[in-house]
Amino acid sequence: MAEAQSTRPGSTNTNRQKVLRKVPWIDGGMAGQSVYVLQCQRSGCGHEYGEEGIRVHQRRCPKCDGGAPGLPVPEPVPTLFG
Ligand SMILES: [Zn+2]
Repeated sequence: MAEAQSTRPGSTNTNRQKVLRKVPWIDGGMAGQSVYVLQCQRSGCGHEYGEEGIRVHQRRCPKCDGGAPGLPVPEPVPTLFG
C-alpha cells in the first residue's frame, strides 16, 4: 500500500521530512504502530525527531515548520553515517 512507501528509509514527504530509520523499540502510543526517525531537510535545520508511522507522510518539522513536538529518539547509530 502507499502507506508503506511513505515510511521507507530514505523517502521524503511533501513537507521535506526525510525518513532516516525505523525505531521498533519505542512505543509510540498507538497499537501496532512503529516509530520512525525523521530528519528535516529544510534549509539550515536538520532537526531529528520521532513520529508514528501513520503520521509520517504528513509530518511537519516541529522546529522550523510549526509541527507538533516530536517523540524522543535514541542517539543515531554511528555506523549508519560512517
Ligand atoms: Zn526543520
